[in-house]
Amino acid sequence: MRFTILASGSAGNATLIASDRAAVLVDAGLSARALAQRMTDVGFDPARLTAIVITHEHADHVGGLSVLARRLAVPVFIAPATRQQLRFKEKDMAAIRWADPLTAEAPITIGDLTLTPIAVPHDAAEPFVFTAQAGGVKLAVVTDLGYIPAHVAHHLTGCQALVLEANHDRDMLQAGNYPWELKQRIAGRLGHLSNDAMARFLREDFDGQAAHIILAHLSQQNNHPELARLAALQSLGDRYPRHAWTEVVSVAPPHGFAKWHRL
Ligand SMILES: [Zn+2]
Ligand SMILES: [Zn+2]
Repeated sequence: MRFTILASGSAGNATLIASDRAAVLVDAGLSARALAQRMTDVGFDPARLTAIVITHEHADHVGGLSVLARRLAVPVFIAPATRQQLRFKEKDMAAIRWADPLTAEAPITIGDLTLTPIAVPHDAAEPFVFTAQAGGVKLAVVTDLGYIPAHVAHHLTGCQALVLEANHDRDMLQAGNYPWELKQRIAGRLGHLSNDAMARFLREDFDGQAAHIILAHLSQQNNHPELARLAALQSLGDRYPRHAWTEVVSVAPPHGFAKWHRL
């Protein structure tokens, strides 16, 4: 299995996961044109995409979905409540190939890839994060959640790669110029993971197995890549001091990686 992040953050999110016999896009938060361009940039022909799976209905996750799904004619896996929230034209909704509706904890099979939707606390209709498994390796893409409940932490064991939200630094968020309501929403139980919450997971619940930890969905206003990375490295160093974690931890750039991560 290999994967890359095509976009990460409030301007758009998309993760491309490819195995021997399948290629799945988790979220389509950029325009279809930009997503196709980013795929081409990493040497992937968009025509080879086999499915799109959607975590939730926020614009930074579905912005390019309607056009991309119709243009590539690939099935879209989505929760029923999420699909109801989409504000696409009726004729466009009808032209999309909707796969069987997603249900929490019910794995779906796409070629040789198995994806499991996991319910998360976030201010959306039916938000999920996903694990993806193929050929004995496992990847988790975990963004857009206010905190990490025990059932989510449980799903993150045995992963060779973790894409993990590090949305904001609490102090930067509080000191910043966002309106009070927005600060409350972001920092709340149905908001986004802070550096602290991400670091606490790595210190207390992470099993130490992942060879790639990618910090994702960073706020450009309320975080800094080095702050997030240091918070992760501090926790990992405390918990597993003999491991060379600097090689493992990276931060997803807003415009994605120019390369694949191979598992
Ligand atoms: Zn988001
Ligand atoms: Zn969201």
